[in-house]
Amino acid sequence: MKNLTGKNALITGASSGIGQAIAFRLAEEGCNIAINYRSKPQEAEQTEAIALQRASEAGYTIRTLLAQGDVAKEEDVIRITNSAIEAFGGLDILVNNAGIQTEYPSHEIPIDRFDQVIAVNLRGAYLCARETIQHLLAIQKPGVIINVSSVHEIIPRPMYLSYSISKGGMGNMTKTLALEYANRGIRVNAIAPGATVTPINEAWTADPEKKAIVESYIPMGRAGTSDEMAAAVAFLASDEAAYITGQTLFIDGGLTLYGDFREAWSA
Ligand code: NAD
Repeated sequence: MKNLTGKNALITGASSGIGQAIAFRLAEEGCNIAINYRSKPQEAEQTEAIALQRASEAGYTIRTLLAQGDVAKEEDVIRITNSAIEAFGGLDILVNNAGIQTEYPSHEIPIDRFDQVIAVNLRGAYLCARETIQHLLAIQKPGVIINVSSVHEIIPRPMYLSYSISKGGMGNMTKTLALEYANRGIRVNAIAPGATVTPINEAWTADPEKKAIVESYIPMGRAGTSDEMAAAVAFLASDEAAYITGQTLFIDGGLTLYGDFREAWSA
């Protein structure tokens, strides 16, 4: 039993890809969901409609909220979290999913592009966590924060320096917040997706040849799905994970197992 029924969740960047799948999955578990989106209201409305339908098919009547805002902006994060708290009467679960990436040789990244990736992926996740933790401490209730990190939390990613730094930082933020608030009932964990078929990866998912190259690096031989990521979030959000905190769960088809070493490589 996941026991997520009636819980209140805020998911950032929830109108596409992994965030949208997380919204659907939590809705199917009976969670009320606040769908944060930055700029495409139609995508958010579509996400809301499908989430309501999935919840209904699973036998739940849930409440939803569309929460427009840019997680890189402090005033937006305060508004987003407050609107979810007011709409649902409290917040139990935060999923820090919003993320962007940018590709440049590391010696040539325009500093505003570098800053923007850190501002969304790392600072934005911190701001959302800060607001959620303040709320949970104020109402003296337990809660769960789940960060959507990446295999690049530990695998270096040339040409994507700011992304690598942001996800590496997210790993440490997960551990630090988990330790700091463990004795107040707040669990903080992360999932680290491997290569997953979502809009952020259009450059290779839409091209069979490029997709085959990406999948050749994955020991299980295929990219992951957003639903596979969402299943892990539902688990970590639930009481089934009641004793898990400060962990990053890698969901990557074995990508972090050093696939090149599958065969004996030294005598
Ligand atoms: P995506 O582009 O579909 O999702 C990212 C979402 O974040 C979008 O909905 C976007 O609008 C939103 N967003 C971007 N900037 C924002 C901002 N400033 N404020 C609010 N929302 C904002 O791609 P995705 O693959 O679903 O990515 C979701 C998360 O998963 C990201 O954090 C990404 O780094 C991580 N991830 C993805 C993969 C993958 O292979 N797809 C692998 C590892 C980690």
